[in-house]
Amino acid sequence: MSFPAERRVEIDLAAIRHNVRHIIDVASPARVMAVVKADAYGHGAVPVAKAALEAGAVWLGVAHISEAIELRKAGIDAPILAWLHTKDSDFSAAIELGVDLGVSGWELAHVVAAARGLERPARVHLKVDTGLGRNGCPPEQWDGLIGRALEQQEDGLLRVVGVFSHLAVADEPHRDETDEQIERFREAVAVAEDQGVDLEVRHLANTPGTLSRPDSHFDLVRIGIGMYGLSPFEGQTSAELGLRPAMTFRTTIANCKEVPAGQGVSYGLAYRTGEATTLALIPVGYGDGVPRVATGAPVSVNGRSYPVVGRIAMDQMVIDLKATGIAGTDKTLLGCEAVIFGDGNGTPTADDWAQASGSINYEIVTRISPRVVRSYVDSDVAP
Ligand SMILES: *Cc1c(COP(=O)(O)O)cnc(C)c1O
Repeated sequence: MSFPAERRVEIDLAAIRHNVRHIIDVASPARVMAVVKADAYGHGAVPVAKAALEAGAVWLGVAHISEAIELRKAGIDAPILAWLHTKDSDFSAAIELGVDLGVSGWELAHVVAAARGLERPARVHLKVDTGLGRNGCPPEQWDGLIGRALEQQEDGLLRVVGVFSHLAVADEPHRDETDEQIERFREAVAVAEDQGVDLEVRHLANTPGTLSRPDSHFDLVRIGIGMYGLSPFEGQTSAELGLRPAMTFRTTIANCKEVPAGQGVSYGLAYRTGEATTLALIPVGYGDGVPRVATGAPVSVNGRSYPVVGRIAMDQMVIDLKATGIAGTDKTLLGCEAVIFGDGNGTPTADDWAQASGSINYEIVTRISPRVVRSYVDSDVAP
């Protein structure tokens, strides 16, 4: 007899493939880079990368070289770009494993030194800051960066294959800063091409850019949140965008008991029952990655949602079953499955938890801790 994991996130790889195919349709003729940084936003980098490639994504994107190495070690040979480095990054390992490197400025010298040591050219994508103000080469220094990169290319230590940038406000489609970013990006590409750079790919769009701004697509779009089936837009659901949330977070109710009116619940006794009711104990807390501040968020049991009451602790939280009608009967929900969030069909969503915690759905799925077991299903395949 096998038992389900007591705390489990289930990832539906069919949903990942569906979302990738949908975004490929939207982005075409631009191609799709599946962004699988941060363990694929908590969904598991290797299985998600494989599913995305199966569905037609042609590139993979990660923040760190170490994340790219993990994909190569799993036997994935698709093009990979890693874009966030420090002076402690292992550029040699990246070049050896055929990982493309994002370069905003200072990295160039380090990448070249590593390439020289290996006697093998590095493939780089030069990043221009078109307004986000994080990484990326300032526009005034762009010309110089291109010049230096071309010199190294002539020496055989480098191949400049891409130019890219990142959008700041594409999740708010009415804002005109995106127009400015697209215009600056066009100019940066033109400067590179005028200097003789022969680009394979120009890329700017993230998920919100891909879905709301066709003029941001260029040759390649880098999609994260949409692939996981979540909406980047406030006030637009996954379903409205044609996306299916891939992750469902489940557990098993650990206790269920009747309490009188005035019963305090959890640390600080910040909640007291207004009337006699039944409480159920959910054995999941901030140690599992649910935000401690999310009191009031819904948990569903048998297709019905109940609010989390009182403080969320490290290991547990409590839902108030006022509405079940089991109080005063012999019925109990002990041992029943509870869904913390899922695809929204009879379950709460990551959006509900984002709202209750003042955060965004990206954070809700990404922060699920290693204490929660990941498992994979494929709803396209009959069980
Ligand atoms: C994370 C990231 C993306 C993906 O963004 P989504 O909004 O999740 O689609 C794209 N590009 C870069 C540079 C990123 O860091």
